[in-house]
Amino acid sequence: MRTVNAYAAPSATEPLVKTTITRRDVGPDDVEIDIAYAGICHSDIHTVRGEWGPIQYPQVVGHEIVGHVSAVGENVTKHQVGDRVGVGCMVNSCGECENCVAGNEQYCLKGNIGTYASVDADGSITQGGYSQAVVVNEDFVLRVPESLDIEKVAPLLCAGITTYSPLHHWNAGPGTKVAVVGMGGLGHMAVKIAVALGAEVTVLSQTTSKQEDSLRYGAKAHYATKDPETFEKLANSFELIINTVSAKIPMGDYLGLLKVDGTLVNVGAPAEPLEVPAFALIPRRLSWAGSAIGGIRETQEMLDFCAEHGILPETELISADQVNEAYERVLSSDVRYRFVIDAATLA
Ligand code: NAP
Ligand code: ZN
Repeated sequence: MRTVNAYAAPSATEPLVKTTITRRDVGPDDVEIDIAYAGICHSDIHTVRGEWGPIQYPQVVGHEIVGHVSAVGENVTKHQVGDRVGVGCMVNSCGECENCVAGNEQYCLKGNIGTYASVDADGSITQGGYSQAVVVNEDFVLRVPESLDIEKVAPLLCAGITTYSPLHHWNAGPGTKVAVVGMGGLGHMAVKIAVALGAEVTVLSQTTSKQEDSLRYGAKAHYATKDPETFEKLANSFELIINTVSAKIPMGDYLGLLKVDGTLVNVGAPAEPLEVPAFALIPRRLSWAGSAIGGIRETQEMLDFCAEHGILPETELISADQVNEAYERVLSSDVRYRFVIDAATLA
C-alpha cells in the first residue's frame, strides 16, 4: 500500500481539505499512475454535495485524470512505465455481460465501478483523481496521444467522451444541424467535437457573454436562452440537441426547437427530475434520450480523434488549494471552460 496526498470532501457541506489516502499495491493486472493533472467536472460537485444521493465521507473525487505510468503488474501488456495515460469515470466492470462485451462498459449490467464513490472489488470505496497517484486495472487505462498537450488534455476523459459518444451515436455530421445547450465544460467540448464531425452547430447559452468563444470554436450561431424570442426564431431548426445543463430547464421549450424525428439527448444530470410534456414529443415524433460517458474503446477512439483534429479543451490551471474557489466559479457558470488541478501542487 502507498500513501498519497489528496483533496477530499469531509462532508456534504464543508469545503474540500488536504488529506492523505492509501492506494492498493499494484496487482498483476494493474497500472500505477503518477497523476499530473486532474480536471474538475460538475459531477464532482453534485457527488460531494450529496445531490445524487448519500455518499461516504471523506471522499476524493476527480474522474478526468492524466499522468505517467510509474509501475505495472506482471500480466500487464497494454502499458509500460513512462507512458502517458489517462483514466476517466470508470475503473472496472464485469467484463462479461452483453454490454461489456459490446464495449459499453458504462452500461455494465452489474454496474461499472466508478473512479470515485463506488464500491471496489475489495469492498473499499474508490477515491478519485484529486490525488498524487492511482492504481487502475490496465483495461481501464487509456493511451494519451503525444500530440495532445498534457496540461490541457484531462477534461477529454469525461467532458470529451460524454459529448463525443452521443454526437457519434446520433450521427452528427455533414448536413446535420446540432444545438448544444449550456456552454460549460461539456458544452464547449460538444461544440468543438460536433464542428469537427462536420455538423452545423448552434450554441444555446443563458446569455450572449460566451458568444465570441462559441464562434471561435466553430459554431455558426449563439443565442441567449434568457431571450424568449430565441425559442420562436429557432423553432423547427435542429435534428439533434445535446443538453449539457447541470440544472432543471423547461424541456418542452427546447423540444420545440427540433425538427420532425429529432432527438434531444440529455447528458446534463441535475439533481431534480426533468419534466417533459407528452405533447412536446407526440406531434413531431420526437425522441428524448439520455447518454452516459462512453465505453473504453470509444474513449480511446475519441482521444485519437481529438489528436487527429487538434481538439483540446480550454482550461484554467489551478493549484490544489484553489479547488473550493473553483467549485464556486463552476456553480456560477464562471468557468472558461474547465478547471484543471496541477497535481504537482499536492506535494
Ligand atoms: P458546467 O461546466 O458547470 O456547465 C454547465 C452549463 O450549464 C453552464 O456553463 C451553463 O451554461 C449552464 N447552466 C448552469 N446552470 C443553469 C441554469 N440554471 N439554467 C440554464 N443553464 C444553466 O458543468 P459540466 O461539467 O459541463 O457538467 C454539466 C452536467 O453534465 C452536470 O450535471 C454533470 O453532472 C453532467 N455530466 C453528465 C455526464 C454523463 O455521463 N451523462 C458526464 C459528465 C457530466 P451557460 O453559461 O452557457 O448558460
Ligand atoms: Zn465528469
